[in-house]
Amino acid sequence: SSSRLFILRDITKIKSLEEERDEFISVVSHELRTPITIAEGAISNVQLLAKREDVAQVKIDEALEEAHKQVVFLARMVNDLGTLSRAERGIGDSKESIDITELVAQLQSEYTPQAAEKGLAFNVDIAGKAGNVYTSRLYLEELLQNLITNAIKYTPEGSVTVSVNRDCCNVCFDVRDTGIGIGKSDQKKIFDRFYRAEDYRTRQTNGTGLGLYVSAKLARKLGCKISVQSRINHGSTFSFMLPIEDPPQTSVQ
Ligand code: ADP
Repeated sequence: SSSRLFILRDITKIKSLEEERDEFISVVSHELRTPITIAEGAISNVQLLAKREDVAQVKIDEALEEAHKQVVFLARMVNDLGTLSRAERGIGDSKESIDITELVAQLQSEYTPQAAEKGLAFNVDIAGKAGNVYTSRLYLEELLQNLITNAIKYTPEGSVTVSVNRDCCNVCFDVRDTGIGIGKSDQKKIFDRFYRAEDYRTRQTNGTGLGLYVSAKLARKLGCKISVQSRINHGSTFSFMLPIEDPPQTSVQ
């Protein structure tokens, strides 16, 4: 009967959510295991080396640097997982009115020095008065920060540009870079958890492969979707759109 079918379907759904969670935990612990093993190995190596007298200091420094690198990586992973879990639990769901021009200016002062360190220009492109959006400040900031951090990370030379374009009802945020770009087949997978492009230049950077997975989740929370346009060796543009908040009616006295 149709009611039995309904129940069956419902159970399947609950089970798959549980399974998804279990699978996620198992994937996360797997991803954590490698850096922990490497850091642990490097530290016990230092302990051994430090007891010997004929050991060059550089050997100790190298092992410590490796351990440090892995711990930094672990910290980043835990940070991404924290953002993910906050979004999943709905912390930061509260909405407020956000002045777009102000928000972008704040990002500009935050990221211009970081871009300059790599010799990149950080540009902001806002035409006219951008207006306000009514949304979660935490999620919107985290989303833009993730896209900008990636743009800087995957751009060896040139620039990163945040542009804001609005029409009557919507505002489109673009984070554009002149970086390594993303191949067509990778473009479909970069939002998957722990996915990193096969490109050797990606592999030269540190990353958890969680940033865009978290970003996609944040975008869903904001009620939008991230789209990507990219050409290998030319750069990438990540975009999303939010509705403009109607300005309050000012009454003439
Ligand atoms: P990661 O920690 O590796 O940066 P992300 O989830 O943030 O993880 O990104 C997934 C992958 O997408 C990256 O490993 C990289 O291959 C690719 N990617 C993301 N942003 C860019 C970009 N702006 N330019 C080129 N490749 C990018």
